[in-house]
Amino acid sequence: MSAHTITVAGVAVDTRHWIGGERVASAQTFPDVSPIDGSTIGEISRGTAMEATAAVAAAKAAFPAWAATSRAERARVLHAIADGVEKRIEELAIVETTDNGALLRSHRRGVMPRVAHNFRFFADWLLKLEHEDFETRGHSNHVSWDPAGPCVLITPWNAPLMLASWKVAPALAAGDTVVLKPAEWSPLTASLLADIAAEAGLPAGVLNVVQGYGSEIGDALTSHPDVRRISFTGSVPTAKRIAESAAANLTPLSLELGGKSPLLVFADADLDLAVGLAVEQYDNAGQVCLAGTRLLVEESVAEEFTRRFVEKASALKQGDPRDEATDVGPNIHPRQLEKIDGFVQRAVAAGARAVIGGHRGDGQYYAPTLLTDVAQDSEIVQEEVFGPVLTLQTFADEDEAVRLANGTRFGLAATVATGDPERAERVTARLVAGTVWVNCFFVRDLRAPFGGSRLSGVGREGGTWSFDFYCDVKNTVTAPNGWTNHG
Ligand code: NAD
Repeated sequence: MSAHTITVAGVAVDTRHWIGGERVASAQTFPDVSPIDGSTIGEISRGTAMEATAAVAAAKAAFPAWAATSRAERARVLHAIADGVEKRIEELAIVETTDNGALLRSHRRGVMPRVAHNFRFFADWLLKLEHEDFETRGHSNHVSWDPAGPCVLITPWNAPLMLASWKVAPALAAGDTVVLKPAEWSPLTASLLADIAAEAGLPAGVLNVVQGYGSEIGDALTSHPDVRRISFTGSVPTAKRIAESAAANLTPLSLELGGKSPLLVFADADLDLAVGLAVEQYDNAGQVCLAGTRLLVEESVAEEFTRRFVEKASALKQGDPRDEATDVGPNIHPRQLEKIDGFVQRAVAAGARAVIGGHRGDGQYYAPTLLTDVAQDSEIVQEEVFGPVLTLQTFADEDEAVRLANGTRFGLAATVATGDPERAERVTARLVAGTVWVNCFFVRDLRAPFGGSRLSGVGREGGTWSFDFYCDVKNTVTAPNGWTNHG
């Protein structure tokens, strides 16, 4: 075992970058800290422009051969990566939980199997990817998806491997090569993915992983002229910075950003279902981009809804995310905790009432919080908190519900609880959101488009949309009897 390898809950993790099929150490490191108990897990190679440039060069060198690899062979390697993920589900789950504090049981049973599925899905989609040829005055039109080149993929800490796989899998399937830059607060599973991909036979340089602070390594990646696509999931301020940097080369961007999504509860809804959906918004300690953090409840049922909500939310068990019985784990970092508490205390000072929570717990935990008496234009209603904090507002009718729901700068998702299918259709049509769930939440099929409107993002991922982004889509028009001499 190298001096650069750490053992995380019994799993060996290399702390160096993965560039051109080799482990590369930086001169400096940064500490990776577990949100469970604040302990330092290890010192991680801290990349700079030098490693960023080397990784893009490796991706560029590997591109021609990988792009020329047959679809069947690319699909085979992606399935082999999925096999490798499946074999290591337990290891990936415990490393991710130690690193970002999300629930072990959900990593084990939901997230990691889903990561494997993501690789299989894009492998299979690649094999079916086609557009029917069509004719224009006797000329045939043939649409093809050409690999675009090296891609930079930048991911956040709240669902590290899951979000990486949404990007890495379609990019590799498309025939592109990749530089993956995981978040500095949870870099470990990206390193394990590099191991798994190498074991699966992915050629050197096709997947590269560089670690470090975004502020130190980010610009060198996103402004690089050899990079053909940038896919980013993270916050709005970082996205603006990346867009400026990418503008130098007009590098196409996919941006999956924050949200302030509404959850609308109409009086005709199954109230227990609606309460269940609302309490689900505390999942991952509220660190979910899609979370419906703004509860909008019809006046006539607001009191009863609140009573049932408080009863259910108060029963949530907060604690160690490795414990099977835990419902709500820690928040990622002391800085994030301060940010969450700052939002709540400013809201309370502005007149909000904490029906439950409203304060920190022990260590890095924040009590699940519900705030009422909040104004539509207040900070707590308009800005993403990214913690276990929900607001509750009431509405008198459908028009007001839609006005409140659409009344932020975001448009990532919306959830509607109603027992009336016609109302569901009317309201859904008026909501500004990339995804609307009716009487359900968090159902995500990779065939479906996924992304945000307004400040929640640019572009869509999933199915054909992912291939459209990661490829140069080409139309070839051939003349009637195209091969003969028309002279
Ligand atoms: P962040 O923007 O702080 O960081 C995200 C990534 O960007 C990290 O890897 C970071 O190192 C990197 N980065 C920082 N500065 C950079 C720069 N100048 N150039 C290049 N890269 C840079 O976001 P975060 O706090 O890690 O994640 C939380 C945010 O992510 C929330 O806003 C959440 O809503 C959003 N999110 C969105 C989705 C979605 O699909 N829409 C999913 C998950 C999270």
